[in-house]
Amino acid sequence: MTDLLYKCMQCGVCCFEIPESPGAKRIPLYPEEVDRLVDVAKERDIKFQVIEDLVFPDTINKKILVITYKILLNNEKKGCPFFDENTGCTVHEIKPYACQAYPLSLKRIDSFNLEITIDPLCHFVIQHREALKKKADMESIKKIFKNEYPKAEKFFRKNKRIQLKIRKLEAEKKISIPREITLEQFNDALKNWEREEIRTK
Ligand code: SF4
Ligand code: SF4
Repeated sequence: MTDLLYKCMQCGVCCFEIPESPGAKRIPLYPEEVDRLVDVAKERDIKFQVIEDLVFPDTINKKILVITYKILLNNEKKGCPFFDENTGCTVHEIKPYACQAYPLSLKRIDSFNLEITIDPLCHFVIQHREALKKKADMESIKKIFKNEYPKAEKFFRKNKRIQLKIRKLEAEKKISIPREITLEQFNDALKNWEREEIRTK
């Protein structure tokens, strides 16, 4: 049994570039999340930009399939434009899945087991590193991160739906994603092919 309970310290570290590794911070967004944040940015007159993140070439239609974008952190503060120094995240109600689940993320390792990752850069994690090491089993993590774990599951299920949609489109021969491609071919496709977003509910 554990009495350690995650509480965000509102430090904002997760909403900014990692100073030691410029360009390494990745805040991924699904296309529908981008739409919502673009609307808010317009309402608030905030500069909000994204770039493509996870993409695949579709050789049947000669299109780049866009799965996710990521927030461009190219402003003066090198941070998410929705972060406010006094109040923290200002889009809490509609923040992306990745932010809702943070500092957790889930991936499947086999048919029966999920693996959980806890971002070591989160300040709560840094502050409680030793205690977390002692409680590294899945059940303890679910209790410590009792609000974030269900969101990490939601994020995982969303990724799963996208994978299934892609597999179905491939099985129906509506798209074809090569399992091997040279860097030159990939760069050429990125430069010349149209984009198509993969969206799911
Ligand atoms: S959406 Fe909110 S939580 Fe996510 S990076 Fe931006 S400010 Fe941080
Ligand atoms: S780094 Fe961790 S503690 Fe700091 S704002 Fe992000 S989630 Fe909260």
